[in-house]
Amino acid sequence: MSRDTYYDILFKPIQIGPVTAKNRFFQVPHCTGLGYRDPTANAWLRGVKAQGGWGTVCTEQVEIHHTSDITPFIELRIWDDRDVPMLAQMAEKIHEHDALAGIELAYNGLNGPNLYGREVPLAPTGMPVQSFTYDPVSAKTMDRQDIRNLRKWHRDAAIRGKNAGYDLVYVYAGHGLGFFHHFLSKRYNRRSDEYGGNLENRIRILKEIIIDTKEAVGDECAVPCRITINELMGKAGLETQEAMDIVSSLAELPDLWDFCLAGWENDSQTSRFSQEGFQDEYRKGFKALTTKPVVGVGRYTSPDKMVSLIKSGEIDLIGCARPSIADPFLPRKIEEGRVEDIRECIGCNICVSGDFTMSPIRCTQNPSMGEEWRKGWHPEYINKNVSSKPVLIVGAGPAGLEAAQMLGKRGYDVTLAEKELNLGGRVSRESKLPGLAAWGRVVDYRLSQFNKLPNVETYLDSDLTLDHLLEFGIPLIGICTGSTWYKNGLGFNLKEPLDIDPGASVYSPDDIMAENLPNGSHVLIWDDDHYYMGNVLAELLIQRGYEVSYTTPAPEVATWTQNTMEQHRIQKQIMELGVTIHSNLILTSIAEGTAKLNCSYTGKEQNFEMDSILLVTSRYPNDSLFRGIMEKEGEWQDHGLEMVKSFGDCEAPATIAHAVYAGRRFAEELEVKPSKEEIVPFKREIAELRYVSD
Ligand code: ADP
Ligand code: SF4
Repeated sequence: MSRDTYYDILFKPIQIGPVTAKNRFFQVPHCTGLGYRDPTANAWLRGVKAQGGWGTVCTEQVEIHHTSDITPFIELRIWDDRDVPMLAQMAEKIHEHDALAGIELAYNGLNGPNLYGREVPLAPTGMPVQSFTYDPVSAKTMDRQDIRNLRKWHRDAAIRGKNAGYDLVYVYAGHGLGFFHHFLSKRYNRRSDEYGGNLENRIRILKEIIIDTKEAVGDECAVPCRITINELMGKAGLETQEAMDIVSSLAELPDLWDFCLAGWENDSQTSRFSQEGFQDEYRKGFKALTTKPVVGVGRYTSPDKMVSLIKSGEIDLIGCARPSIADPFLPRKIEEGRVEDIRECIGCNICVSGDFTMSPIRCTQNPSMGEEWRKGWHPEYINKNVSSKPVLIVGAGPAGLEAAQMLGKRGYDVTLAEKELNLGGRVSRESKLPGLAAWGRVVDYRLSQFNKLPNVETYLDSDLTLDHLLEFGIPLIGICTGSTWYKNGLGFNLKEPLDIDPGASVYSPDDIMAENLPNGSHVLIWDDDHYYMGNVLAELLIQRGYEVSYTTPAPEVATWTQNTMEQHRIQKQIMELGVTIHSNLILTSIAEGTAKLNCSYTGKEQNFEMDSILLVTSRYPNDSLFRGIMEKEGEWQDHGLEMVKSFGDCEAPATIAHAVYAGRRFAEELEVKPSKEEIVPFKREIAELRYVSD
């Protein structure tokens, strides 16, 4: 099939300075958690995006000089010529598929505590570094020589970027992370020389750097400028008018404008707090300030929306980070007339959590993300079946859906049995909770694929027992029957079940999701899970008219969501809803109408009156079916069973992303024998020990 002509505009080439992008799909720079530690995995990841049809594919931040590193975060580096091969490999992988390669040069300055290089950080004005980790380090105020040095470093890095084969060499003033943003902002720039004070002065360094970069590489490479158009902090930060003045005064200087919000948590908002296109309103009026092409983001996954953005003249290139992570083949699917196959980003920011935990990127929707080289997984293709043996998958949650889909693609005849009347398991339940509707796409995408796979049969209302498994005699069985929330307090803090009075009204998230709502009007939540469930249920209970008190052993609500950049928004939201928050408390006992909690520091006991308590702590695997069949291993042969494996929450409860990954892994590895020499089941970049004297 070929594309609908309505989408032709998305495939119209566009000139960017001296280079031409073959289409309007632009993978803006985004982190991967791979960086300099896993450069080959990183190169393969970018190469697969190019293979999927993105006309331009960019790197993450590439630190230009050893005087600014953002350790412990793992980005790329172009400190000297020895970094060039690592970056060249990535450009080559991108070029293999006729895409442009972009490199985002970054000097973090005030955002880098320099924990690796131990150099004193540089900033327009000396002040404590603005890191994510409150490092007790200050930056020094740059003098004129420092500024001259910086210009040279940036110029050298630009030349190295060109030599590494890049077609676009970025000047990065976005997100409040790009150093040039700090000069633009009155908050960070309190200088009184020609680089501070009025706007003209604050723009000076950015202008000089764009000119320097163009002089250095502009005959061969385009020079885009990624710039903050709003910091969403009112007068304290950059606002629309000031940003417009900046863009106007530099209007024709860069070859491309890449508009973003600052900080990163505003630019990459989750679907709980914003919809597709949430940046459109902030970008209004900016494009008219320049004749140069403009790229903008907004978690765009709808091809129709993309067309309307270009037709209405809002932007020229569709900028995507997360939609390209969830579906590296999004452009090709539009081109091939398969828009229904697009695996839409759900806006959960699990991808961001990879960067925040310094681990390789992962994605809820696309389990192959980050594994393209490490495991040889591909977002679209999978090895053919080894045999024609049928497979039974028990449980159609995210793990089961992914396994069935990918085994179907391998060519196996798959029976997917689900005890409920609908597919999706926890995703179906959780996507009905406040703010989580977009998560339903995890199910929607996989169901859309089943329609194309006649060899996958789904059976609803099928609560399988041990006898069924034996009777069916299907040789290959995957069991992914999910998990259940504890109702006895076991979790991160409590390793012994709580002392609970039988008269107490105690609920778990499963109860609430099953509409078994709490007794009385006042609910006390104890959240020892620290992700979304406790706070989403607080919101739901408020909507249902309850008075809600929220307690947690952590110092803040949903502390793990620091990794998805949602913590601040979540805490604000439930405070504004009227939930009272009590931190640093360990639950010790529950009686009728009251619970005792101890201060986690002093042990001082507090009584909380309530009508009901909702325990959001942890889950146990629903593994009785799996354990049962394993106990009957001696009878398998008589019934034709050969292999049974559990995976997903039924093996060990974790995030939805973990379950999808586990389903993919089951499908990838079924009947595939590991090679004899394999000890570690994924490729690693092993450092070659070499003493290099400078
Ligand atoms: P995961 O995240 O690991 O996929 P879920 O809890 O989302 O786990 O999904 C597990 C699914 O398995 C649920 O939809 C549940 O109804 C189903 N299930 C559990 N036990 C059985 C069983 N014995 N037979 C068929 N389906 C089952
Ligand atoms: Fe989208 Fe979530 Fe995947 Fe990130 S992890 S790309 S937010 S689906």
